[in-house]
Amino acid sequence: MSMLSWDDVIEQKAAETPEPPRGQPSVAQAQGLETVQIGAARIQVDDKQIINCRADLNQLVPFKYKWAWDKYITACANHWMPNEINMTADVALWKSIDGLTDDERMIIKRNLGFFATADSLVANNLVLAVYRHITNPECRQYLLRQAFEEALHTHSYQHIIQSLGLDEAEVFNMYREIPSVATKATWALQYTQSLSDPTFQTGTRKDDQRLLRDLIAFYVVFEGIFFYVGFTQILSMGRRNKMTGTAEQLQYILRDESMHLNFGIDVINQIKFENPHLWTPEFQQETIAMIREGVDLEYQYAVDTMPRGILGMNAGMFRDYLQFIANRRLAQIGLNEQYPGATNPFPWMSEMMDLKKEKNFFETRVIEYQTGGALNWDE
Ligand code: FE
Repeated sequence: MSMLSWDDVIEQKAAETPEPPRGQPSVAQAQGLETVQIGAARIQVDDKQIINCRADLNQLVPFKYKWAWDKYITACANHWMPNEINMTADVALWKSIDGLTDDERMIIKRNLGFFATADSLVANNLVLAVYRHITNPECRQYLLRQAFEEALHTHSYQHIIQSLGLDEAEVFNMYREIPSVATKATWALQYTQSLSDPTFQTGTRKDDQRLLRDLIAFYVVFEGIFFYVGFTQILSMGRRNKMTGTAEQLQYILRDESMHLNFGIDVINQIKFENPHLWTPEFQQETIAMIREGVDLEYQYAVDTMPRGILGMNAGMFRDYLQFIANRRLAQIGLNEQYPGATNPFPWMSEMMDLKKEKNFFETRVIEYQTGGALNWDE
């Protein structure tokens, strides 16, 4: 078999792909892989669209969505690495016989079990399902940064699991063994699987709604609700001076995740704004039902991980908390709050995202970046 060049592959693909209906970009256009047109006109801001864009996707500027670029810049400024966080106190506490109760140990293991695979699910959804359908370069710039952060989060959980000497196979397989962990993963997978057909394209109302549904499932429910029982439980331990390294890792992850959520909400609202015909009363009802279902599943997770009250928290408080944050998520995407009067029993959680209040991160770094020293300018 003769070797094909990249251009041949693109051309061959274009030849095999039937002409799309009017108003719908070709597969190559939607991906930014179309053949280069020498002398084509420069990109104008008005040419840009968040989905179904026909303009060149390889030109970052002029920016249309400043919020996407600003989030990319902020995310880079928040850069951190899991191995920069000192885990010594956690290892000593975990290995001590009476340092932690059985309930506390279960909470740590269950959460590591959920999170260790959750960020891979998010990353796979981003890279394999979402990325090619978001037809805007500044949004894609943030998506690439987010994808790397998901890798860092999985790295962080692996670092914790390895530091504590946990049974890695047990923890990583938990999403296929423990029902309350499996349920959350299974719930999210149905949405990404709906886009996984390689011939799937946006461009019709039905298909654009499929994409929007996946974005709501992952950004609003998975990253915006399913992470919050675990974050609160572990950060609450940290506040009581237990598992402080693990809690610090989760604090950085929480800060990243709150930006993922806010980016997702901006993308959802932008798609709605540019495509108001997608936001039908039926679709709104379906979205409300998805968010309510997410609250119920996460509450069940709270009950399963916390059969008894612990650390001044109990499952009932989590029902209030989840309803409180769900009201906020609903309002952020323009839907009515579903849980009137829900209050926040954990007001300290919002302070956890503002790391500057706690300490200057750069003063706590324990290692230096090594890449600079490895560069050889003579070659
Ligand atoms: Fe995330």
